[in-house]
Amino acid sequence: MIDVYLGLGSNLASPLQQLLRCVDVLRAEQDLQVVAISPFYGSTAIGPGAQPDYVNGAAHIRTALSPTDLLQLLQRVEQSQGRERGPERWLPRTLDLDILLYGNQVIDQPHLHIPHPRMCERNFVLLPLFDLAPDLVLPDGTALRTLAERCSHDGLWRLNTAAQ
Ligand code: ATP
Ligand code: CA
Ligand code: CA
Repeated sequence: MIDVYLGLGSNLASPLQQLLRCVDVLRAEQDLQVVAISPFYGSTAIGPGAQPDYVNGAAHIRTALSPTDLLQLLQRVEQSQGRERGPERWLPRTLDLDILLYGNQVIDQPHLHIPHPRMCERNFVLLPLFDLAPDLVLPDGTALRTLAERCSHDGLWRLNTAAQ
């Protein structure tokens, strides 16, 4: 079993409910085990145009699925919650599930890059991940603590609701 960290995000159709529902769906999956869910945060959207605020969080799971099979499972969950994919990136979405870390592995395939290439510059990824795993070290040896302590809290606020 590999320890995996996921980034969770939604900014459409009751974002908090979307994340709570996706946590339930992940918990019901046979092929993975949910270890812990971070507190949730609100964040200002970084995508194109004016967009609703996001709700973001992180999940620690364990799985024996390959990275590609896990990505497929996560995309199936996104679709089951109404995620629409168009040609343009970073549009508003009901659910976005990114693989942030897959054990200590570095994966560079056309459809899959792990660690997630933009995680280190995103406070809405780093801070929930830090809540979950403050002593985590990235595959390149960088301590998550260093990244989390350096990152700004601009456009990010902690919500009171968490997954049970
Ligand atoms: P960003 O990747 O900047 O967070 P996004 O989440 O909006 O943007 P998507 O449209 O959800 O991007 O995904 C586009 C593609 O990214 C997916 O089809 C998938 O193949 C690819 N991808 C590459 N690396 C990863 C990863 N670590 N986790 C999830 N998807 C990934
Ligand atoms: Ca994303
Ligand atoms: Ca994504």
